Amino acid sequence: MASLPYIVGNWKMNGTRAILSEARAIDRGAARLPKVQVAIAPPATLLHRTREAVELIGVGGQDCHVKESGAFTGDISAAMLKDAGADFTIVGHSERRTLHGESDEVVRAKAEAALAAGLAVILCVGETEAERDAGNAEAVVGSQLEGSCPQADGASDKLTVAYEPVWAIGTGRVPSVDDVAAMHKAIRAKLVAIYGDAGAAVRILYGGSVKADNAGELLSIPDVGGALVGGASLTAESFLAIVGAAA
Ligand code: PEP
Repeated sequence: MASLPYIVGNWKMNGTRAILSEARAIDRGAARLPKVQVAIAPPATLLHRTREAVELIGVGGQDCHVKESGAFTGDISAAMLKDAGADFTIVGHSERRTLHGESDEVVRAKAEAALAAGLAVILCVGETEAERDAGNAEAVVGSQLEGSCPQADGASDKLTVAYEPVWAIGTGRVPSVDDVAAMHKAIRAKLVAIYGDAGAAVRILYGGSVKADNAGELLSIPDVGGALVGGASLTAESFLAIVGAAA
């Protein structure tokens, strides 16, 4: 059975308790759109409250540490996310890879830690503009997948991949339909190479400047199984317009 489109909001480092009203409104709106799976990843400080504020939508973390506990000041483990009510965590977002220097190896360890803690994983990959201009986009993304896909038994069952071209994140620029289609096809082939037949069932999201006015077109591209949404997920109005486009 084909899975439902999956629309995930990444709130990044945005929001204090006041934003919980948006989470509640997203939850109510999602209840009217049952043909779409909806989730948000609030900042860790709001995870527990978000879990309590919503009934239907998924709730997740934006990152986790590779270890379960220990002397890692400021970090949060997957087990802690789970305890706070998370269903999943994002790992390998380009802001983590770039601003925190996370390698594929670290991202893989985080994904495996999340799975071990009982969380589903959204693994982000994507090329920079220079890599695309040099004609290396598919090679870069393929290598990220080879290096960061979790390898534990059954890992692909709880894995979602988000293709997020770095140059499209927060810029208002999106790749052409043909480029998204080609990349998602290449990602699918790589997932099958890594996981065998199970790789055919892993959902692949597109992320990068998804808005209400481009969501319909992006979501209709073959093998685009949903969207990872940053800026436009911060209000229920703009996020639900994207969810509506997926319905
Ligand atoms: C993101 O950072 O995951 C993202 C897709 O951001 P935006 O939608 O703002 O481009």
